[in-house]
Amino acid sequence: MTTLLVVLLCLCASLFPTLSTAKQSPVHPVGSGAEIDLENDPVSADIRAHWMRRAISTLSDLQSTCPFAPFGAVIVNHTVTEPGEGELVCIGVNAVQMDGNPTLHGEVAAINNCTSILTDPAGKYQLSGPDALKAFSDLSLYTTAEACPMCSSAILYGAFREYIYSTPIHGPNSLLAHGWPQIDLPSKEIFARSLGREVRTRIVPQVLANETEGLFVWQFGDGACPASCVKEQDERGWCVEGEKQEVPTGKKASPGREL
Ligand SMILES: [Zn+2]
Repeated sequence: MTTLLVVLLCLCASLFPTLSTAKQSPVHPVGSGAEIDLENDPVSADIRAHWMRRAISTLSDLQSTCPFAPFGAVIVNHTVTEPGEGELVCIGVNAVQMDGNPTLHGEVAAINNCTSILTDPAGKYQLSGPDALKAFSDLSLYTTAEACPMCSSAILYGAFREYIYSTPIHGPNSLLAHGWPQIDLPSKEIFARSLGREVRTRIVPQVLANETEGLFVWQFGDGACPASCVKEQDERGWCVEGEKQEVPTGKKASPGREL
């Protein structure tokens, strides 16, 4: 019986090599949900920038080069290759308008995609539901803007290892500063108000905010379009790709509509 158990355990380890062999890193101590200063970030600025740029590029991959709702996310496993770059597990973008689902903000879309990938019986990980849930505690979520209360709560419930955002909700060059409709509740306050639950997720704020700001300045303000985009010559004044005058079908979003 004991031999059979050992064999089964070995088989499981070989089936799920990436996440099942992940180990706690001495350079990533479990935190308390507090924000960490970029100067004290155990992951290098170059690696943070790499993954935040990948979060930005999900927008052109899955949405548009001139996205109205430029909220993209990537979920990365930094524990398998430390002190290296990390391994991409899944991506997601705001798909509220495309899919007609009000919950599909970029972070939630990425989490849903990760669950599908982690539990795919023919995929790389082939995890059970409970094991996929545990695996999130090894993962780091990068997102182009600070998460709304819904997404902050999803990150909290996922007990992610890290949550890294770019453009903040508050402050200069923030979503609020550019006129974006927001529930005025920062992520760290959502985390701080969690009761009866150990908050393990470390928040790394405003990574590459100088590069994501341009994505958010035109929708509710009078900022310039992102590179390679032009303003439509009508009352909407939306930013569209190249010389096109119409936003492609399925990628429309109305100013003022909840995102
Ligand atoms: Zn959200």
